[in-house]
Amino acid sequence: MEKLVSIRGAITAKNTKDGIAAAAVNLVDRLYFKNGLTDGDVVNIVISVTPSLTAASAAQAVRESGHAVPLMSCAEPEVKDMVKGVIRVMITAYSDKPPRHIYLNGARALRKDIAGSYAVALDGPSGAGKSTVAKLVAAKLGITYLDTGALYRALGLKCLREGVEATDAVGAENCLRDAKVTIEYENGVQKVLLDGEDVSGSIRTPEVSMAASAVSAHPYVRGKLLDIQRDIAKKSSVILDGRDIGTVVLPDAEFKFFLTASAEIRAKRRFDELTAKGQSVTYEDVYNDVVTRDRNDSTRAVAPLKQAFDAIAVNSDDMSAEDVANDIIKYILGDINEI
Ligand code: C5P
Repeated sequence: MEKLVSIRGAITAKNTKDGIAAAAVNLVDRLYFKNGLTDGDVVNIVISVTPSLTAASAAQAVRESGHAVPLMSCAEPEVKDMVKGVIRVMITAYSDKPPRHIYLNGARALRKDIAGSYAVALDGPSGAGKSTVAKLVAAKLGITYLDTGALYRALGLKCLREGVEATDAVGAENCLRDAKVTIEYENGVQKVLLDGEDVSGSIRTPEVSMAASAVSAHPYVRGKLLDIQRDIAKKSSVILDGRDIGTVVLPDAEFKFFLTASAEIRAKRRFDELTAKGQSVTYEDVYNDVVTRDRNDSTRAVAPLKQAFDAIAVNSDDMSAEDVANDIIKYILGDINEI
């Protein structure tokens, strides 16, 4: 049911006409996007700026960007130890979802309760480059990376080892009921333990990929792995890569990206990766695996691979992992507003 909500946000800006305009429009657009708003939902927008921002009117910039809603801007008083150069926005709107606030750049310090730690959800099909991108983003932003596929892979491996058909829901549940999957970090590198054994290396084979894809369709398996993922996300700022992070695991993640690439390009990347590791595979087999896993992941009843409504789609066909990571970082820091 729709009710009135008050959505807040803040961003720091340079005291130039363009700096103020870009920051104000960026913040308002993000608040609209994150909260699924259109002008029709919005009652009014109030924008305030700290005393050092004198070069332009933030509200006027938002008006000129095309928002036809009542807008008011005001200057904040000088307060001791205030964070300087801040634009604050409060949007009053009708929404059927809880408000999602956004604090960017230096303004994150204003609301540690809301903005102190943050979660980045990076979803997408197999081979889109999620793990490479996530590792780069985590390293550059100094946040924790969780490769959630590794958890499913560990359970897929257990089924393979025990000779249990991974597609058989009852058999898999019996086999996996007592399985213990844990994550450890050694110098920032993730290790996956299955019943205490480090299986980080053994889960990276095409057989395990298919078994992981099969076990991941069972509601029992998804439920079993949900808490592990959420517990890690609770502890600090994180980036999780997977299929259902933005939709199911962390629906409230501050930042959500959906990374795609064509099946041919994804298969080529995975083929190069596997052959570089010395595994003997053919491109055709890898391509068929990619297509089969896409189908499994997108058509399963529970938590299918799906872009969250508030995720930003990034197509990496013509972008290197470094380019994607750099854009994601700039977006998170509030330096750009689209990818
Ligand atoms: O990402 P990765 O290829 O390592 O994942 C292995 C399999 O685990 C995927 O094909 C997918 O079926 C499943 N998976 C999932 N949900 C996640 C992560 C992985 O269903 N969050």
